[in-house]
Amino acid sequence: MALLEVEDLTVQFYTDDGVVRAVDGINYEIRRGEALGLVGESGAGKSVASLALLDLIRAPGEIVGGEIRLDGRNLLECSTDELRGIRGDEIAMVFQDADAALNPVYTVGEQIAEAIRVHEDVSDRAARDRAIDLLERVGIPEPAARYTDYPHEFSGGMQQRAVIAMALSCDPDLLVCDEPTTGLDVTVQAGILELLEDLARESDTAIQLVTHDLGIVAELCDRVLVQYAGEIVERAPVEDLYYDPKHPYTVGLLASIPRLGDDRERLPTVPGTVPSLVDPPTGCRFHPRCPYAEDACARRSPPLVEADTETPAAETAPDAHLAACLEYTGDLEDGLDYEVQVRDEPPADRSDRDRGGETR
Ligand code: SF4
Repeated sequence: MALLEVEDLTVQFYTDDGVVRAVDGINYEIRRGEALGLVGESGAGKSVASLALLDLIRAPGEIVGGEIRLDGRNLLECSTDELRGIRGDEIAMVFQDADAALNPVYTVGEQIAEAIRVHEDVSDRAARDRAIDLLERVGIPEPAARYTDYPHEFSGGMQQRAVIAMALSCDPDLLVCDEPTTGLDVTVQAGILELLEDLARESDTAIQLVTHDLGIVAELCDRVLVQYAGEIVERAPVEDLYYDPKHPYTVGLLASIPRLGDDRERLPTVPGTVPSLVDPPTGCRFHPRCPYAEDACARRSPPLVEADTETPAAETAPDAHLAACLEYTGDLEDGLDYEVQVRDEPPADRSDRDRGGETR
């Protein structure tokens, strides 16, 4: 059985403009010890999907449907007390902004020791010793001396390591990391990724990594979900996604990554922006931005199927390569031709439609 099973998860936000379906019926699972990447542009619903795992959706948002099962137990049916125990003990979260996650008026060591005491009946001395061990484990030099440092005495990278130490304090089964390296310089970023990789290997902790950076996913993850406008549009083992992307959105994201020795003067971009989720495009939600869109794309919502066999997602193995595009249900007349179609600019005949947000 998978460690985490997310089934038909739907999260809505009630705004003055209408109901935003930020996460719209997504399904996925994470196996024990596996690192799963959740990628997409801002506004795709990745962070909302992750916050939902810890029941951290607050008004005006609400989880309106689906199941989140951890070791077979549906978290959406747990009481507030049960969830409090699960947070930290079984699922822990590392947020993007380590500075904001640490309390400036307590020392870093005290905050880690407090996290241990909240979940375990241990003496102050034992909690302190464990906190120092954790600081050492996440690579803080002279951990006993740094225990009494305040957050402002740590660099950005060290703060993020301290937050990871806090998240690991109760040895969770699943670590949810939301953009854990954004804002850090490249060398510090590499160190944090290496740390997460080592931790996952040593303790069999599963990781859900939320990021907009496909390069980070390539370094850390075993499998990837690509999310667009609240839906999952592609799922694949990491190498399959990089070497043989199936969905035009993924192709666009990959084309926009700079590469060493790249002699392109301008990097291609995915034209347009993520649509409003109050009134998303009909049919395939990507169609106003898709260089391959045909008339059928505005009418039919493509199901997530195995790209080679058209097998529905629910009947596939976790390592199957899935995509939600009419190409894989046999409904495109011209088909996809990435070599020709990946381009620097939106096709001329699509620009007006993109600006108006209209559908075909
Ligand atoms: S279904 Fe159509 S619009 Fe959607 S990704 Fe495929 S080709 Fe593009």
